[in-house]
Amino acid sequence: MKSRLPNVGTTIFTVMSALAREHGAVNLGQGFPDFDPDDALLDAVNAAMRSGHNQYAPLNGWPGLCQAVSDKVDALYGRRYEAETEVMITAGATQAIMTAVLALVHPGDDVMVMEPVYDSYIPSILLAGARPVGIPMTRQYRIDWDRVADSITPKTRVLMINSPHNPSGMILRDADMRALQEIVVRHDLLVISDEVYEHMIFDGEPHKSASCYPALAERSIVVSSFGKTFHVTGWKVGSVVAPKAIMAEFRKVHQFNVFVTNSVMQVGLAAYMQSPQRYLGLPTFYQRKRDFFREGLSRTPFKLYPCEGTFFQLVDYSALSDKTEVEFSQWLTREIGVAAIPLSSFYQNPVENKTVRFCFAKKEDTLSRAIDRLARLG
Ligand code: PMP
Ligand code: GLN
Repeated sequence: MKSRLPNVGTTIFTVMSALAREHGAVNLGQGFPDFDPDDALLDAVNAAMRSGHNQYAPLNGWPGLCQAVSDKVDALYGRRYEAETEVMITAGATQAIMTAVLALVHPGDDVMVMEPVYDSYIPSILLAGARPVGIPMTRQYRIDWDRVADSITPKTRVLMINSPHNPSGMILRDADMRALQEIVVRHDLLVISDEVYEHMIFDGEPHKSASCYPALAERSIVVSSFGKTFHVTGWKVGSVVAPKAIMAEFRKVHQFNVFVTNSVMQVGLAAYMQSPQRYLGLPTFYQRKRDFFREGLSRTPFKLYPCEGTFFQLVDYSALSDKTEVEFSQWLTREIGVAAIPLSSFYQNPVENKTVRFCFAKKEDTLSRAIDRLARLG
C-alpha cells in the first residue's frame, strides 16, 4: 500500500515509554505527570457523570466550559472571544493542531515551522497536502525573525509557533510577538499558536499569548490543553480560541473529525475552572520542580540549558559520550535506568547536538531516584 506518511513511524514518546517500561527505568521521557490531579477535579467529573451528562455535548463544547475559557483568556490576555462562536473544546491539543492545519491550509501551500518542532506538526501539514518549511532556531533556541521574514514566499500560508516551547523550554517575549505580528500582517499570513504550556512559565515572566496582540489575534488559532494544565494528559481535552470567521472553518473540520468532545470531562472541567487559583498556582508549582531537578542535575556531568517554561529540561551530554542522541537515550534507559527523549526527533532531517530532553513533571521522589542514577555517571 502506498503510505500517506512514508517517513513516519511510531512517535518517539511512545517508543521511549515502552523502552522505559521494558527496562524498569525512571521515565523522564514522554511528557506527563506521575502524580494525581486534584481530588476536587475528580469529584467534579464524577458528579457530572452521576448527574446525567453522558450523551453528546454541543458541537462547540459544553457552554459552561467555553465560557470559562473565554473568561480566562479575557482576564489573562485581554481579548474577549465570544463563548458561542469563537471558542471550541477539542479532544486535546494534538487534535486541535491537526484540525487547525486541515482547516487553514490548502494543498500546495507552504507552512512554516520552527525547528526543533513538536512531532505532530509536520505529519499534520503533510496530510493537508502542504509542504512543511523548517526554519532552524538559533543555538539558544530563539527565533531569528529576519530569517523567518526572508523565507516567506507567495506560497507561505501559515506559520506555526509554540511558546513556552517544547522541547527547548524557551519562551517568546513581547519583542518576538511584535516581530511575528508585523510579519504576518505584512504578508497576510495565518498563525497556529500552540500555547499548551501557557501556565508553566517561570521566574515571574508573563505568558505572551498570540491573543494579547490584536492584529495577530485576528489571524490566529490559539491552542491550549487541559491535560497539561490540570495534570490529566490521559483525558485528552483541549481548547482553541480564534476570531469568528476562522473558527467557522475550524468547526467545519472538527465536526467530521471528532464531531464533539466527550461531555463528562467538559462539565467537570467547567465547574473546576470556576476557581482561577487552580491554574494561576501552576508557575510556582512547576518552578519548584524545575529548581529541584536542576539542582540535582548540577551534580552530574550534564550541561544544562536554560528552562524558562514547560516541564522539560534540555541537557548536553557531550562530556559523557560520543553516541548519537537516539543511541544515548536508549543506552541511558537500558543501562542507567533513566529514560530521555533525543532532541534529534524534533527535526525533519535529524540534527545532532548531543542533547536530550528530560521531563520534570514528576514527584520529588521520582526525580530523586533519577538524579541518584544520573549522579553515578560522574
Ligand atoms: N503541543 C505540544 C507542544 C505538546 O508538547 C503537546 C504534548 N502534550 C501537545 C501539543 C499535545 O497535547 P495534548 O496531549 O492535549 O494532545
Ligand atoms: N507532548 C508530550 C511530549 O512532548 C507527549 C505527548 C505524546 O506522547 N504525544 O513528551
